[in-house]
Amino acid sequence: MQTQTTLSKTPRSTEAFARAGQLMPGGVSSPVRAYKSVGRDPIFVQSGSGAYVKDLDGNEYIDYVLSYGPLILGHCPSTVVTAITKAAGKGSSFGMPTTAESNLAEQVINALPAMERVRFVNSGTEATMSAIRLARGATGRANIIKCTGCYHGHSDGLLVEVGSGATTLGVPSSPGVPEAITQHTLLVPFNDLEAVRSMLKANPDTVAAVVVEPIAGNMGTIPPLPGYLQGLRDLCDEYGALLLFDEVMTGFRVAYGCAQSLYGIEPDLTCLGKVIGGGLPCAAYGGRAKWMNQVAPSGPVYQAGTLSGNPLAMAAGIAMLNELQDGSAYEQLEAMASRLATGLELAASEAGVAIQIGRVGSMLTCFFRDKPVTNYDDASDCDTNALARFFGSMLDQGIVLPPSQYETWFLSTAHDEACIDKTIAAAKVAMQQASNQ
Ligand SMILES: *Cc1c(COP(=O)(O)O)cnc(C)c1O
Repeated sequence: MQTQTTLSKTPRSTEAFARAGQLMPGGVSSPVRAYKSVGRDPIFVQSGSGAYVKDLDGNEYIDYVLSYGPLILGHCPSTVVTAITKAAGKGSSFGMPTTAESNLAEQVINALPAMERVRFVNSGTEATMSAIRLARGATGRANIIKCTGCYHGHSDGLLVEVGSGATTLGVPSSPGVPEAITQHTLLVPFNDLEAVRSMLKANPDTVAAVVVEPIAGNMGTIPPLPGYLQGLRDLCDEYGALLLFDEVMTGFRVAYGCAQSLYGIEPDLTCLGKVIGGGLPCAAYGGRAKWMNQVAPSGPVYQAGTLSGNPLAMAAGIAMLNELQDGSAYEQLEAMASRLATGLELAASEAGVAIQIGRVGSMLTCFFRDKPVTNYDDASDCDTNALARFFGSMLDQGIVLPPSQYETWFLSTAHDEACIDKTIAAAKVAMQQASNQ
């Protein structure tokens, strides 16, 4: 029934998806966009403005995807658009240094006490891949410890999911990734310090880095348990491993000082992406000068990029951070996200649907589960059929959510009270749908 409604409202998206399917694998440039896990066709976007996107048929939706995180000011914030336009008129790429790189670098370094040097790259995948190369190069150790359910981009060594015997050696989660690479990725459950301790004990002097999303965002939003991040810091110090915070999602999203400022932890290396590019392809990794000076050309650890530090991306990032710097955006985001969470909980309880809200600031996931969610196993034990019904009903009512239980919803500063209340009203209907078999 839901599908029919949508099909009748979105014939141009259906047509566009059929065409794209003949040209690109699954018709998309990134898998989650195909809506496979919610069993329907994606909408094709024509344009975005503020909190809204418009599809090819002219339907408008309140957008909680927000390009999977970067658009913290919503679509087309005027300062960012102006900055990009101005930069584009002066040349889109040079392969020679510009002061824009130093300007954004300075802003990032000023925001993060643990970051003394930074290197810009083009995607979060590149940032984590390069930071791990650096950790290995700097420590002379091959192994990394990674949490099941944490996503750090799609480079070979990080593309390791769960097996059921999750605390053993990494098994590749995609064909094309040799075990010779993933055997160096040691898996532990998120929020489980004892597992990290045993892993370090069992692999003495071979672990280059413990890699973690300080707030998990790629198995839905799961905050760290109290003491977890400090425990990781202590264990890394004890065993001589570097602590690498992958803040590609959380960086400048949960606070101007990123997640590390919220929890008061200084990692050795930090990866950034999403928000720092202001919606353009840009990411970064950085940390103490002692480590970063190992990166070429200061040091021997090689890493490069034709479009890295791209002037358009730098301009967008600088404009974005300028808007965020005074911190007022985060207060507003917190107020709106908290209002949304309360509304969702009420809608669910009225409909008799069990949910758990995972939330830190403007990152939020509605898990369809009756017990707390603290790790990947919990997140994998949700009623995804209920989620699919909820998602479909929301879409039909003009609210677009990330199409999976493992994704985070994002708010922007353009999501005002009216948007939130419209979303809550839609959720009341959608929760009823979710409760029907
Ligand atoms: C999105 C994300 C990445 C990958 O970034 P891309 O720009 O998609 O390559 C890495 N780590 C985390 C935590 C992310 O959320």
